Amino acid sequence: MTVFYSDTYTIPLPDGHKFPMAKYRMIRDELLHQGILSPEELRESPIFPAQELTLAHDERYVSDVCNLTLDPKIVRRIGFPLTEGLVTRSLATVGGAVAASEIALEDGVSGNLAGGTHHALYDAGEGFCVFNDIAVAGLKLLNARKIHRMAIIDVDVHQGNGNSAILGDLPQVYIFSMHGRKNYPFIKVPSTIDIELEDGVGDDEYCSILSDHLPIIADFKPDIVFYLGGSDPLETDSLGRLSLSPKGLAERDKLVFEWARTLGIPVSLALGGGYSKPIQHTVDAHVQTFALAKSILA
Ligand SMILES: [Zn+2]
Repeated sequence: MTVFYSDTYTIPLPDGHKFPMAKYRMIRDELLHQGILSPEELRESPIFPAQELTLAHDERYVSDVCNLTLDPKIVRRIGFPLTEGLVTRSLATVGGAVAASEIALEDGVSGNLAGGTHHALYDAGEGFCVFNDIAVAGLKLLNARKIHRMAIIDVDVHQGNGNSAILGDLPQVYIFSMHGRKNYPFIKVPSTIDIELEDGVGDDEYCSILSDHLPIIADFKPDIVFYLGGSDPLETDSLGRLSLSPKGLAERDKLVFEWARTLGIPVSLALGGGYSKPIQHTVDAHVQTFALAKSILA
């Protein structure tokens, strides 16, 4: 299974910043260390050309990010200092998502060890998201007529307001988002289907709701599924508010991957969020997701 990664995903943050920047390298190292991926299966994420981001984003917003001249209010909404490193990280994140989506169409599965930047809107970033990787990757495939329809299965615990804002009106796009009702973002942008979960939902309830909805997504007959398998529904997550166990998260991933395998739908994985303390829980959950994707879909 080809998976994209870049050292540029990791950028320095001020002391005490709540984003677990170390996770990217830890996930990569664990996947290699446990023999889930061979070094040959890991590829460097290409830096996406900034001018092509206008597929999904406002030209002025893109140039303000790249020239480091973005309105400080939007920089605060993003939550990372605006630096050259952040620009490179953001372009590599989109590059990895685009490359993974193209490989997924050939191989049935691929992924990016970053991304799922589903809070990035047309003309602003927020919630640790600068550019919307899945919107760009999906629109690129649609415009090139490599696909006719796409679905996003977004099971990160936060609602994908950016995905819905950018793609929600397109008849070729089906967005399923399952998230905490009381969680960020507080103004949600409607998806095709939004499942709003109360605080504390556990494995059984979560998986039975997901399983009930997969046949509905199948009716849309997507040519690709973008899977945003955040690890933040975990009980140990500091931002999640849900109560899934690692076993429940594995069940969630298996439901989606076995459904996709049965229907022959290619899957492109994005990392999504994860804020467990200790960070190792987040790392283990993402490693588990990629291991299951490989064993079921590759
Ligand atoms: Zn999240």
